[in-house]
Amino acid sequence: MIKLEIKKYGSSVLRKKSDLVQKINKDIKCLTEDMLETMYLSRGLGLAAPQIGVSLRICVIDVSPDKKLPLVMVNPKIAYSSNKILGQEGCLSLPEIFASVKRFVNIVAEYTDLDGKNRTIEAESLLARVIQHEIDHLDAKIFVDYLPDWKRKNIEKEIKRRKKKGDW
Ligand code: ZN
Repeated sequence: MIKLEIKKYGSSVLRKKSDLVQKINKDIKCLTEDMLETMYLSRGLGLAAPQIGVSLRICVIDVSPDKKLPLVMVNPKIAYSSNKILGQEGCLSLPEIFASVKRFVNIVAEYTDLDGKNRTIEAESLLARVIQHEIDHLDAKIFVDYLPDWKRKNIEKEIKRRKKKGDW
């Protein structure tokens, strides 16, 4: 099993807008396999390519309880969204940090699958939240960006403390 290194908050690649994937080839397929393995091994619900240092519009997701429903999205985008709600969120790039973020409950997302086919998915609740979170990564956004200043500053202080301890 391959577990790729996950870039942590503060890494510049997380603040770079990702490029569209032009062609789905063997390299892209291998990359998504490694991403899925890394996500499963890290017990995450989703992982976006910038989180492993690759600035491409790709994300992998699995919110199923037994982790057998992988969703690989290439060039995903939100086509429709409604009903915002607050919900707890975390991120593999910010281990052990959680905060409430407002997201749409219902979305329709468009993406390309690994066969190069254009697909549409209707999602709600947790899956909708994770898709929005991962697409944000492709746009260089991180969930803490939505928090009020004081909350984000507290989180940044906590990260500084952990960095000092070599735990980041
Ligand atoms: Zn994340």
